[in-house]
Order: sequence, then C-alpha cells, then structure tokens
Amino acid sequence: MIDSLLIANRGEIACRIIRTARALGIRTVAVYSDADAQALHVRQADEAVHIGASPARESYLVGDRIIAAARETGAAAIHPGYGFLSENADFAQSVLDAGLVWVGPDPSSIRAMGLKDAAKERMIAAGVPVTPGYLGADQSPDRLQREADAIGYPVLIKAVAGGGGKGMRRVDDAADFADALGSCRREAASSFGDDRVLIEKYILSPRHIEVQVFGDRHGNVVHLFERDCSLQRRHQKVIEEAPAPGMDPATREAVCAAAVKAAQAVDYVGAGTIEFIADASDGLRADRIWFMEMNTRLQVEHPVTEEITGQDLVEWQLRVASGEQLPLTQTDLAIDGWAMEARLYAEDPAKGFLPSIGRLDLFDLGDATRVDTGVQQGAEISPFYDPMIAKVIAWGETREDARETLADALDAAVVWPVRSNAGFLVEALDHPAFVAGTLDTGLIAREGDALMPPVQPTEEALIDAAASLAMPGLVPGFRLNASPRLSGSFLLDGEPVTIDFTDADPGELAEADSVLIAEGGQVWELRRWRATGVAAGAAADGAILSPMPGRIIAVDVSVGDSVIKGQKLVTLEAMKMEHSLVAPFNGVVEDLTAIVGGQVSEGATLSRIVASGEAPLAGE
Ligand code: ADP
Ligand code: ADP
Ligand code: MG
Repeated sequence: MIDSLLIANRGEIACRIIRTARALGIRTVAVYSDADAQALHVRQADEAVHIGASPARESYLVGDRIIAAARETGAAAIHPGYGFLSENADFAQSVLDAGLVWVGPDPSSIRAMGLKDAAKERMIAAGVPVTPGYLGADQSPDRLQREADAIGYPVLIKAVAGGGGKGMRRVDDAADFADALGSCRREAASSFGDDRVLIEKYILSPRHIEVQVFGDRHGNVVHLFERDCSLQRRHQKVIEEAPAPGMDPATREAVCAAAVKAAQAVDYVGAGTIEFIADASDGLRADRIWFMEMNTRLQVEHPVTEEITGQDLVEWQLRVASGEQLPLTQTDLAIDGWAMEARLYAEDPAKGFLPSIGRLDLFDLGDATRVDTGVQQGAEISPFYDPMIAKVIAWGETREDARETLADALDAAVVWPVRSNAGFLVEALDHPAFVAGTLDTGLIAREGDALMPPVQPTEEALIDAAASLAMPGLVPGFRLNASPRLSGSFLLDGEPVTIDFTDADPGELAEADSVLIAEGGQVWELRRWRATGVAAGAAADGAILSPMPGRIIAVDVSVGDSVIKGQKLVTLEAMKMEHSLVAPFNGVVEDLTAIVGGQVSEGATLSRIVASGEAPLAGE
C-alpha cells in the first residue's frame, strides 16, 4: 500500500479523500491557493503546500507545480479528485513520468473516453448501445444540418470536448439549427478550446442512469450498480440516488453488463462511471438505454453507491492504485436499502441561483445524515471555485425513508448569511413527481416557480420572532392575552413589514436588535425598526388602553374624527421605544383623554372608538 498521498484538489472531495487516507494510515499532503490558505482540507492534511494564486488556472490547474509539491514532500502518489486535472491525460502521464503513482486509470483510457465522439465510436465497436446520432466526421454546417434533419427533431448538439453540462444545445426545429450550432460552437471554443460538435437524437422523457464501475491491474472489472441522477438543473445534477427508481432486475443486469463491457473495452483501471440516457416514457427498459459518456474518475455522487453497498470507494481506489486486487468480486456485491444525495450550493435561488459569497457565520447541517463538506462555520466562501459547499447524503431501508431523512435534514439546515439552495432542495424532494419516482431530467425546468422556496417565513414563525423582539419593550407582567392587539414595524431582510403578534408564542425574548428565522432550509433576519412599537388596539368595546406605563408623545386625532382600521391614534413612549396605538376598526373618535406629554399607567383608557354604523340613526 502507498504510504503517502498528495491530493490535487480542494473542498469537499479533498477532505473526503483525506478521511479515508488517514483511516488507512497514509500520510496526506494538501495543496492550496491563496484563497484557500485557511481551508479545511489544508488543516486536515498532515502537510500542506502553497501552489499559487487564487484563480484555478494559477494553482489547482498547474500540473508542474503540483508534481513539484509531491516531490518536495516526498508524496508517493497523487489523487486528482474530480474536476480540475482529474480527466487530463497529459497530467496523468506527467505524474507517471515523475515516478509517482497516479490514482486513476491509465492515460490511454482517459484519452479513449475524453472526447465524446471518439468514446462513442469505441463503444459502438465494443457492442455497447449508444445514443443515436451523428459523430461529426464532417463538421461543415451544411452537413451537420442535414444530419440533424435526418435524425429528426428534437436533437441535441454537443461539444465533443464538453463537460459539466456546458456546450449543449437542444434544437426543436430545423429553422433554429444554424443559430444553435453557432452559439454552441462559440461556447465550446471558449470553454474547452475545441469547437467540434456531435449531434444526438434528443431523448424524450429522459432519465440519467449511470453505473459505477471498477477495474484493477489483475484483469478484474466489476460494477457497483446504478445511480439515478435525473434531477438536474441546466444539465447539472442536483439530487442523485441509488438504486434507480423503477429499475427491475433484468434491466439492471443489462445496463450494468453494458457498463462493464464499456470499461473492459478501454482496459479500465480504478473508479469510473458510465453514463447512460434512458427513454423512460414507458418505464426503464433495457432496449431504451444508451451510452452517453464515461467519466474516468471518482464521481461527485459516489457516496450514494457507498451507502447502498457498504464500501469505501476511495479505499478501493487507493488499493487498486497500490496494485492490489479489487476488494470484492461481483457476486460479493449487493444492494442494501436506498441512498439519496443532495448537492448544497452557496447560491441564491431567489436571484436566479447566483453564487453567494462571503463568511459562513452559521453552517449547521445537523447530524442525522452523512455530510461530505469542505467548509466549516466561519469559513469564507470565495468567488473562485465551484459553489458546492456540501453534499448531504441519507440512507434508508426504502426510498421513502431515505427521501424523508434527507428532506428533514435540509429542512433543518441553517446556512447564514451566505445563501444556500437548501430551501429549493426541500421543495424538489417534496415534489409529487419526485416522491413518486416518476422523474425525468426536465422536471426542474418544467416546474420552475413551483419549486421556488417561499420568499417569506410562515406567518407563525414571523409573529413569534416579532414578539421575541418587541416583547422586551413591554413592561414585566404584561400579558399577551390581554385584550389589546399588539403589532409593530420590523425589517425582514431589510424590507419593512408590519406584524401583528398578539397571538405569538415567542419563547425566548431577544436581547439583540434582530433575530434569525430558520425554516424550511432558509434563513431570514428580522430586525427591530426605528418605529417599532406596540399598538394597543381596543377591547371589543373600542376602548384604547395603554399597554404599559409611559408618556404620550403624540396624539394624531381629535374627538369626532372618522378613523379607519389601523390608523394611528396615539403614540406612547415607553422603555425607550415608541409604540403606536391604532384604531381597531373603522369608526369615530368618541372620547380622547390622552394629551401630549401626559404620563399614563398600564391599562389606562386613552380613547374610545365607536364603530361606523353603530350609532343609531334617529327615527329608526
Ligand atoms: P459528476 O459527473 O462527477 O457527477 P458533474 O458532471 O455534475 O459531476 O460535474 C462536476 C464537475 O464540476 C466536475 O467534473 C468538474 O468539472 C466541476 N468541479 C470542479 N471542482 C469542483 C468542486 N470542488 N465541486 C464540484 N464540482 C467541481
Ligand atoms: P457532460 O459531459 O456535460 O456531463 P453529458 O453528455 O453527460 O454531458 O450530458 C449531460 C446531461 O445532458 C445528461 O445528464 C442529460 O440530462 C442531458 N443529455 C445528454 N444527452 C442527451 C440526449 N441525447 N437526450 C436528452 N438529454 C440528454
Ligand atoms: Mg455527463
């Protein structure tokens, strides 16, 4: 077994790898950029080497610097994690040339699967069913258009070098093809430095089914069953699970066998994922599942496979890289229960999922589920890297058990003041189609607003919070169930709101000027406002009573005035705060004893309102 390991990555995956390495007694070396000097992965590793400035292309993507760091620290091996250099065959070759162990497949396997067109050609040759389409030998726009017409719309234009959901355009109509091709090519050129594309039939009712495969240097290849990653936003996975809902044993057998065949075709060693697209219009059927691409690395969502198989895939990777045989044979592997993972992002669903950066003052995901994260409370979320801050993973005997556990954990999540997508994940997990397991990759796009989390806390949470802020301003012994209505003005995330908190159950009273309301995975701040006050309405008879001892500082009405419900009558100053007393209903000011500057005691009658229409008309 290797005795030391450099992790060429950051964030949650670096921490994940360190955890297993440590358990196996392997010395760990982290690398970090300027922005990550205080990062969790740096603190968790036995040693850490600074490799450059914050932008990834000046640090985590500088292969030579990383190899030099391995040399400086005497690390025996390099684990690339996912993203960054993990699927870079040239980097893998440089690692090997430096005499280090590469925790991944041979560079030739990475190359074979690196471009989507070449990979599909290879799979066709190996007898693996691939998504129907045109592989793009001739890249002229005319030819591409003719091929798209022949395939039949809708089609998907895909950058051959694409990844991470980028460089893809769905085209529904021949007339739109040329424009879509142009924009896809521009994105592909700028993102991947390669503007070549292929064209695929766009599969309707698409489900993303992928199979975890593993190979060793002794000729063994096994699969560790499938995952379903159909819940996607803009072609990026949001929630993943294993096994796939509705997968029958025969279909599983067929798709997993196809995955093993694909891995064998490229002499695969280590952890890899074969991604398939399924036409699920008639359930999952073996003859409607096609190869899409292979990811020649550990996958973000590998934990769901670990949870249903009881295996540690990073341990498998390190054993295989050390030359050992796979820990288990195919017949030793079985599925136990169900696992579901949600990707928690520092982003604001209400602002078009814009990344949210800053200090994580609060970060609490509870302890009911597995949490793979690279940050702690107090960490700084920088704008330089992927905004994924954690993966929350739940296991259950059944899919429903796993789903409920995951939804409960996200519902209780507290992330603040950085925004997170936890509230959105809760909505997605509770969506009837997801609950029923009848998902497809278009669900999020179709449901759109229906999955947006509430913009405000529930009434109940809001009035309790308001009371906890305003009550300390009330005299001791003041009873909430006394007849006056209590309300005040507050700022909810900076927006003025008036809240009637007569019926509140405030729990603890807040000492500070603001409280946080955490609910449904979201957090709001409620702050006392300048004009915050307690408005004593009236007993049913229209009497306006002073809610506490204080001094009258304003009287806004005169006897005989008509007033409308909520109109301010008298302002009382007490406990250094102003309290507005408002009309309880539309009516006329019949009686007014309050005078500016006057001291009043609790319960004193300040005015009386007679409801409009109550005064008897003469003659009736
Ligand atoms: P996977 O295919 O592994 O499930 P996706 O296809 O959704 O994952 O995309 C994950 C991709 O995100 C990685 O392949 C990589 O391109 C990019 N990435 C880079 N760094 C990170 C990170 N720290 N967290 C999440 N994603 C990252
Ligand atoms: P990437 O390298 O960006 O991960 P993929 O080829 O894996 O690209 O496709 C990403 C996602 O796009 C898939 O998970 C699926 O949701 C969607 N997709 C890809 N190909 C098709 C297709 N032919 N029909 C329908 N959806 C597709
Ligand atoms: Mg993919």
